[in-house]
Amino acid sequence: MSGAWADVHGQATNYDPRPLRVEHVFGLARAQGLPTALAAGPKAQQLFAPHVQKAATLAEGAETAPLEDYLAVLASQAEEDARLLQASTRGLTVLEIHVVDDAGHGWGSASEEYARAAALADDAVRRLASGLDLGRATLVVTGDHGHVAEGGHGGPEPEVMGVPLVMAGAGVRAGARGDCLQVDVAPTLSALLGLPLPAASRGRALVEALAIADAARLDWLRATVEQRRAFAERYRAWLSGNGVAPATFSASARDEPMLWRTLEDGEREMAEAREARQEHERRGRLPWALALAVPPLLVLGGLRAAGAIHGRELLLAGGAAVAGVALYHGLLPVAGLRYSLTAVNKDEWLAAYFRRDMALSLAAAAVAVAGALGFARRRWGAGVRTLGRVAWTTAAAFAGLLLLKVAFVYWRHAVIVDWHLPDQYRAFGFYLDVLALMAVGLAGPLFALVAWPVSRLVAPTAASPPR
Ligand SMILES: [Zn+2]
Repeated sequence: MSGAWADVHGQATNYDPRPLRVEHVFGLARAQGLPTALAAGPKAQQLFAPHVQKAATLAEGAETAPLEDYLAVLASQAEEDARLLQASTRGLTVLEIHVVDDAGHGWGSASEEYARAAALADDAVRRLASGLDLGRATLVVTGDHGHVAEGGHGGPEPEVMGVPLVMAGAGVRAGARGDCLQVDVAPTLSALLGLPLPAASRGRALVEALAIADAARLDWLRATVEQRRAFAERYRAWLSGNGVAPATFSASARDEPMLWRTLEDGEREMAEAREARQEHERRGRLPWALALAVPPLLVLGGLRAAGAIHGRELLLAGGAAVAGVALYHGLLPVAGLRYSLTAVNKDEWLAAYFRRDMALSLAAAAVAVAGALGFARRRWGAGVRTLGRVAWTTAAAFAGLLLLKVAFVYWRHAVIVDWHLPDQYRAFGFYLDVLALMAVGLAGPLFALVAWPVSRLVAPTAASPPR
């Protein structure tokens, strides 16, 4: 509803919703005296209050309720929706139909329940549409995301990221088709309602799908270039932190291709400004990343220098740790773990998901330790003290390798949701790695206890020198 990306409007997750800090279509409509109405859950109501004149707050759907419950909610919601639509003849009415998402979380998008929920949502839209005079009203139907087959969203999967957008009625050019971005929805609503573009919008009115004259089309493009220039100026100044970063892209372009190019130039300049700020912050993070990465290397190097550990033991532990970390990463998909929020279909599964990650890392580290101990015992005939040392060193090297990875990702990409959204894949992987390294790091001394049974149960091969 704002046309802004999440890092600019600041509401990057479903948690902790607050009134949006950027302009949105509800606010613009109210500023022009148009009536606004919203039927949605309490979180969505929070985002747009106080610019919603008539609000119907829908109950939050429990993700584990039986499908019949959802359908009952959909039925009562349809009444609310119809009432809101009748009440506002001109203006902006937004209706959230949540049953499809609930069914996705409950049973996954490959389920019969999901198909049924989608069909019922279709029916609900059809009934609402039949009550509209599409000669005067415009109907815009879209979704905020899809679901993977087993249920879940939040990650970058194509079936999660791609949604349909269907427009019909007044102002819409029948038969127009094409691709667009979700940020284009708000500017398109602005165009349909005759409102200014939302100030932080990064989208464009879908003029090719609107029944407007060529001249008006050009006007909209020009207005978009103007809006974007003003936004880019503030955005780049804010990114650079010094308050002066005039946008260089001009709005003097006359024809359509030039206007499009100007918009693209503006996007590129903003991307460059983002990259410059990230580069600057990377330099600031470097000492902290080194402070994470270097101590474990110093500890292992120091132990070696002090003669507390032999060179070949360190080599064996290091090799086993590399194999163990590779095993951990290789088994992530087998354990149903992915670097994507989509893999955690329900909030209440998050703790179990993280526990599974820690268990997997412990199992992979145990395999690495067992391999190293088996080798040391058979080939070197190592005694219990050497075995204990090799076990701890292997676990420490395992945790150290993950720490190196964590430090690198922290330095290179940053993982905290701040002024920009971190790369989803890497940020999610970062937190899984941190948990894995904590589990293995803390369990390190326990691995040393395995030395005793190994020394009793595994016999050295005949060729190994006695120790
Ligand atoms: Zn959802």
